Amino acid sequence: MEQTLIILKPDAVERGLMGRILSRFEQMGLKIVAAKLMKTPRSLAEKHYPGNREVWLRGMGEKTLENYKKFGEDPIKLLGTNDTHEIGMMIQKWLVDYIVSGPVLAFVVEGPHAVELTRKICGNTLPFLASPGSIRGDLAYDSSYLANSGKRAIKNLVHASGSIEEAKYEIPLWFDSSEIFEYERAEEKVMQ
Ligand code: ADP
Ligand code: MG
Repeated sequence: MEQTLIILKPDAVERGLMGRILSRFEQMGLKIVAAKLMKTPRSLAEKHYPGNREVWLRGMGEKTLENYKKFGEDPIKLLGTNDTHEIGMMIQKWLVDYIVSGPVLAFVVEGPHAVELTRKICGNTLPFLASPGSIRGDLAYDSSYLANSGKRAIKNLVHASGSIEEAKYEIPLWFDSSEIFEYERAEEKVMQ
């Protein structure tokens, strides 16, 4: 049994997609054990996207460079640098600005394989690469080219913890243990 953090980012809320996205998780049988609509404090955003964690920053930089290489895009031309740390810092700032730009719906789902199932239903980070049927693939089309030439984060509607370890770090940032509930869903008897 796993728990994972999902955040419907400001573009999802502003486009009126909350219900549609939330229902995908409910339909799949994942249990919503916490939820709140909130404006993200900048201090929380900075912990969630940790600009002081070198491994995280370089990881963001590396992933971005890999994508640029795959699509023949020039990091120097788009970002002014090909240094992974600098790229990570740049994206972290854009990400924080994006997540604090409007209300978000944060929620926690629970279920067997919740982390992996959630990543799968969200789809690829880059919406233009996300498979049809996934949330990002069905409802968005952004790319790193569009985002980075506009000096902003990729608008991909949803955040989902990338691993069990990430979920364990992220959930307590957003929810107090008293805001996470235990209950039984009617389908549990049939599905398990
Ligand atoms: P995911 O959200 O799929 O776990 P990452 O953890 O790699 O993806 O990145 C976090 C978020 O940063 C992404 O959801 C996206 O909004 C944004 N992002 C990732 N790469 C870039 C990039 N090259 N330019 C702008 N924003 C990016
Ligand atoms: Mg991630």
